[in-house]
Amino acid sequence: MDKLIQQLPRMAQEKSKENKKFFAKLRKRPPKDLDYVMRDLHEAEFRQTNCLDCANCCKTTGPLFTNNDIERIAKHFRMKPQKFIDQYLRMDEDNDYVLQELPCAFLGADNYCSIYDVRPKACSEFPHTDRKKFHQISQLTLKNVAICPAAYNIVEEMKKLLANR
Ligand code: SF4
Ligand code: SF4
Repeated sequence: MDKLIQQLPRMAQEKSKENKKFFAKLRKRPPKDLDYVMRDLHEAEFRQTNCLDCANCCKTTGPLFTNNDIERIAKHFRMKPQKFIDQYLRMDEDNDYVLQELPCAFLGADNYCSIYDVRPKACSEFPHTDRKKFHQISQLTLKNVAICPAAYNIVEEMKKLLANR
């Protein structure tokens, strides 16, 4: 897995032009059954990819923290939300709360998340490949294929599956 993660940015770059073209077409004419197609592709991929062998999202990008996330996680630590913000978060250029440091402070050496049950919503949904109306997040997906081996594989399978529709 380490070797694949290392090679992923280059592999994604090589597919970049093809992927942009594919998603541009998909946005114009999304198949009626896209939500079902994505659910099946997502489930098939995560039957063979174990996030505990990877954790590249937690090491390299980290999530946005919503107010609900902050309140829930601060409560878990019996901290005031502001104290949690001061200790772990910063505001980015879009005025979103993000991690001060990467890898994420809650990631263990064994790739387990120490706040798994209360983790940010964005973490639980990443890489968003089973999201409804998947064609609407194509810009995000174009970035995620360089970070997430599962997202990369899902997009490759998706291109094959939808090629002749
Ligand atoms: S979601 Fe993707 S990047 Fe994150 S741990 Fe799983 S396979 Fe790796
Ligand atoms: S909160 Fe947990 S799942 Fe989210 S980035 Fe940190 S370690 Fe990963």
